[in-house]
Amino acid sequence: VEVIRVPEIVELTRSDLPATVTQDEVNLSTAEGNLIVLLRAAQQGMRGGVVMVLHDITEIKHLEAIRRDFVANVSHELRTPVSVIRANAETLLDGALDDEPAARNFTTAIHRNSERLTMLLSDLLDLARMEAGETILTMTQVSVHNNVDRAFDMLAHAAEKRGVTLHNEVPSDLQLNTDSDTLDQVLLNLIGNGIKYGRSIGGQVWVRGLMISDGIRIEIADDGPGIELHHRDRVFERFYRVDPGRSRDMGGTGLGLAIVKHLVDLMGGTIGIEPRQEGGTVFWAELPKG
Ligand code: ADP
Repeated sequence: VEVIRVPEIVELTRSDLPATVTQDEVNLSTAEGNLIVLLRAAQQGMRGGVVMVLHDITEIKHLEAIRRDFVANVSHELRTPVSVIRANAETLLDGALDDEPAARNFTTAIHRNSERLTMLLSDLLDLARMEAGETILTMTQVSVHNNVDRAFDMLAHAAEKRGVTLHNEVPSDLQLNTDSDTLDQVLLNLIGNGIKYGRSIGGQVWVRGLMISDGIRIEIADDGPGIELHHRDRVFERFYRVDPGRSRDMGGTGLGLAIVKHLVDLMGGTIGIEPRQEGGTVFWAELPKG
């Protein structure tokens, strides 16, 4: 009792208990932090004493909580577009079909929200595939500069619409042995975020690349509002958004950076965020040379 000041454990040493007793989810505070354990105690028969087995289930409990949150988040994200589609379709069926301008508005809303659902489902499928370990990397020698150019081409329209200039400052001889499509996906996401959340009209996004001791480092920088310190670690969580309304308006699912982190992990690299000194954000990814 003096050493283990946990009432649940002390309670299990009572000699008048049944031969075996189980208690789930006992909280233990230890020098290494709080643990959740499953306790099993068996009386030692004639010799007296109790044998106690403690299973550390902290990680399992943590994962269960994440899964619960995830299901709640997905349901919440699906509910809004589905309700909008349903309400608009009902209004059309109730007579708005005959009023052409109104019908056009309702149909546009149905179209926009079905696109949002498609994006959400596609991101969820990407995550599920990655978690199931189904992503196979095909390693080839890639020139990072060319991949960045390709990403710029695909994002040119979005950048032009927001008045953002893109700069590819990756040296043309920077080579990497990696899966080219995965690198493309990472670049598209991070450059796309720089366009979406950086400064509009006159804003800039730079991509730089350099050799580091055991690989290469790619930086995607913007001159937008930046990401405050307390959001920085969390933006890689699924559905975490700094400004939820704005992210949805920009067509974001809140899953982009979670997917990027997964992809960088798959490539054996690490990813992080730094504030840009002159204002804005720098996302960096360090990738092994392969
Ligand atoms: P989304 O799908 O909403 O774009 P992401 O996972 O890509 O989600 O990003 C998570 C959040 O991080 C965004 O909602 C946005 O608030 C913030 N964010 C991402 N990139 C930037 C950036 N370059 N500058 C400022 N905020 C950013």
